[in-house]
Amino acid sequence: MTSKCGRFILPVVVFTFIIVSCPVYALGCVYLVSNLIELALYLLIFSVLFIVLLWSFLATVFTPVATVPPNYKLTDQEFELLSTKDGLEKNKLLQTYIKGKNLLIQTRSSAGSVRYCLKCKHLKPDRAHHCSTCGVCVLKMDHHCPWVNNCIGFSNQKFFILLHFYTTLYCSYIVCTSIRYVVPMHDDYLLDYYVVWFV
Ligand SMILES: [Zn+2]
Ligand SMILES: [Zn+2]
Repeated sequence: MTSKCGRFILPVVVFTFIIVSCPVYALGCVYLVSNLIELALYLLIFSVLFIVLLWSFLATVFTPVATVPPNYKLTDQEFELLSTKDGLEKNKLLQTYIKGKNLLIQTRSSAGSVRYCLKCKHLKPDRAHHCSTCGVCVLKMDHHCPWVNNCIGFSNQKFFILLHFYTTLYCSYIVCTSIRYVVPMHDDYLLDYYVVWFV
């Protein structure tokens, strides 16, 4: 299992890439674009994309995961009683807990029983799953993402989708605005190479 410190490596790498890309692009623009209006426009759009990308990344990383509400919690007595039951009896007891706590749980396990978490000691709401990395049950859990060191679920799913959308937009923008400057440089290099070796 990855250590607690080790889990921060990938988010720090991603964060560093985002931060470093800013001066690299800005200096490249200043160096290559001679038209001032074009330069200002490039940098303005880039700044907006950079800010929204950074915001969506930080929001995905730092938004706390949505955990299961306290009314789903089983008391020590309820949990102990549960551990004495088996099969159908256990399922019946879990059904009575659901009714007693007035909970709305529709999802059942593949065996048809009410889902509950042995580690967190509570009934599991629909689409909640236990994350072994975070050590808690997460509402509407999708997966644990090592790149942001956070569970993607109810609280940060929107930021995660936005992060993908802005990353695509950001990278596409950089490629589209630099290609006309980078390709001729590459062509010149190829031309020099051709002249040196073949002429
Ligand atoms: Zn759990
Ligand atoms: Zn997690």
